[in-house]
Amino acid sequence: MSNLNDDQMPDIWSPVSHTRIPDEAWEYHIRKALNDAAYNGLDYVPYCSTMPVQQHDDNPKWIWKKKGAAAESGGAAQSGAMKYVLVTGGVVSGLGKGVTASSIGVLLKACGHRVTSIKIDPYLNVDAGTMSPFEHGEVFVLDDGGEADLDLGNYERFLDISLSKDNNLTTGKVYQAVIERERRGDYLGKTVQVVPHITDAIQDWVERVAHTPVDGRDGVPDVCVIELGGTVGDIESMPFIEALRQFQFRVGQGNFCTVHVSLVPVIGVVGEQKTKPTQHSVATLRSLGLNPALLACRSSEPLQDSVREKLASFCHVPAAQVLTMHDVSNIWRVPLMMQAQGAHDTICRLLGLGGAAKIDTSMWKQRIADKWDQLTQLVTIAMVGKYTDLSDAYLSVTKALQHACMAANRKLKIDWVEASNLEEATKTEDEAAYNDAWMKLRSADGVLVPGGFGGRGVEGKILAAEYARTNDTPYLGICLGMQIAVIEFARNVLGWKEANSTEWDQATPHPVVVFMPEGSTTHFGGTMRLGARKTVLQTVDCISAKLYQSEQYVDERHRHRYEVNPELIGAFEAAGLRFVGKDDTGTRMEIVELANHPFFVAAQFHPEFKSRPMKPSPLFLGLILAASGKLDHFLSGRATPVASPAKTGLRPVENGTIAALTAAKLQL
Ligand code: GLN
Repeated sequence: MSNLNDDQMPDIWSPVSHTRIPDEAWEYHIRKALNDAAYNGLDYVPYCSTMPVQQHDDNPKWIWKKKGAAAESGGAAQSGAMKYVLVTGGVVSGLGKGVTASSIGVLLKACGHRVTSIKIDPYLNVDAGTMSPFEHGEVFVLDDGGEADLDLGNYERFLDISLSKDNNLTTGKVYQAVIERERRGDYLGKTVQVVPHITDAIQDWVERVAHTPVDGRDGVPDVCVIELGGTVGDIESMPFIEALRQFQFRVGQGNFCTVHVSLVPVIGVVGEQKTKPTQHSVATLRSLGLNPALLACRSSEPLQDSVREKLASFCHVPAAQVLTMHDVSNIWRVPLMMQAQGAHDTICRLLGLGGAAKIDTSMWKQRIADKWDQLTQLVTIAMVGKYTDLSDAYLSVTKALQHACMAANRKLKIDWVEASNLEEATKTEDEAAYNDAWMKLRSADGVLVPGGFGGRGVEGKILAAEYARTNDTPYLGICLGMQIAVIEFARNVLGWKEANSTEWDQATPHPVVVFMPEGSTTHFGGTMRLGARKTVLQTVDCISAKLYQSEQYVDERHRHRYEVNPELIGAFEAAGLRFVGKDDTGTRMEIVELANHPFFVAAQFHPEFKSRPMKPSPLFLGLILAASGKLDHFLSGRATPVASPAKTGLRPVENGTIAALTAAKLQL
């Protein structure tokens, strides 16, 4: 049973049941009791953020929300009830549902509401950790170590929030939770079925996660944007659609609305916009019990008025709620395009939320959407990786480069370099590809070697690191990119010709990168080092400390298994490779910098995951500034952080500090 007792919550229990609730049913009943209590006039609405998954969680976390607190704090929510916006997609995948859903979040946030989000992925994988970036784009890593769909990155970046692994719900997770309960005997005597057990579990999950704050503040968010992955009508999304159909009644009218993202293709030489695919997908959605309140129609050109009218009459949606979502110059224009059509107004009206009249997106427009289009001076970054045919595999890295370019006033050009094309073997097999790869590397202003797994392309990446080191070209190595830098240095500076990582060369006489699990050394499963960890800065006299404006530590996300061999650090440092950031035990190398090089910085963590449009990641900003010849100027005018002699405790420094402090100076 939980740690609740009557002393803690007598007023909450009594209005509803007047009795103690049996242990085995506590989750559902307590939540219901608490909700009812709220409606019965209690001042505080309590929610347990750990409720439904672990039925017998002994340590539930309680969040107390003062009724109407959002309204008092300017949030303008008119009742204490959580509001939900469901975003579904039709016709084809890849329409930009994630960007649409994130944009709705941006608008609601700009209306003064606290927004969270849930991404539902109907695949059977429990999480995205085992999925190939080739197929599915990058694995986005969260603070808590969750390996999630890349759409969670969109939400974090657009809304400047930090999500948890529970914000990504998959079929695998729901079935796992229900089957665990079944094995524990929680449904004794019952036949466990998709309806109601899976559908109830989905609803419980959504409701619980929606109430968990994600913006670093206490209290419950006002609105949760739920994105249902896949396309309406897919077999695998059926349980979710059914759960959400029921959910609209669970949460009540006025607390739930659906936005359907669809495609309006253009056919034929006359360029006629076709409504039939949208008509069919809306018909499918409605037959499943969900009526869209808004249609977001993707098209190359703005929707013609006649097309809008036609969609309105065939799809049971008012014409004013048929939004044109035509192609725009950058994705940050999408919220502005929706705002211009009054989407925020409609959603707020349907959900009984205030704030629409005082929406303010001016900063978003000036400092992000307009800014990006106004950049003219080019900076070219060679991205030396393995999945270069599918740039979604490096989505967060690309975004982090874009954020840094906005801050540094540079127009970004990424030259994708397939690492293996830099290798000698390619020269004989495909000379044109080899020459092209080297031409791109040589003409770049900066080189970035991002994360990766396995040995393919590694030798090419090592050549890229060597090129950057010996030609004073700015280099940023991320995770594998740091291991590559260390291997290259070992081979070409220390003369350990066969130095390597044991990830792909177990027999190397110089294992400079080794397997170093945090937990068991014998058990290989689940040994990835995942999520946020502290990196303690070893000196203030390094580029990283200056960029982070930190004198003590930085907090970034990880996803790796191998690390620099701590036994060899002395040899590296003696030759000029400085390990300026380490974990709090001092044994795991986190940041490496090369002495006497304009910018040769590499990190074991992934700084890209915490980069935001208005808060660029410091290391990415460093790369872009160095590649633009502005790093020295940038660093020179700033006070070097001073190490506090009495380190009384670690002080985090926000990624955004730099941008804020130096915004004026960056307008070079
Ligand atoms: N393959 C390396 C490791 O497991 C690097 C991982 C990464 O770049 N994310 O340590």
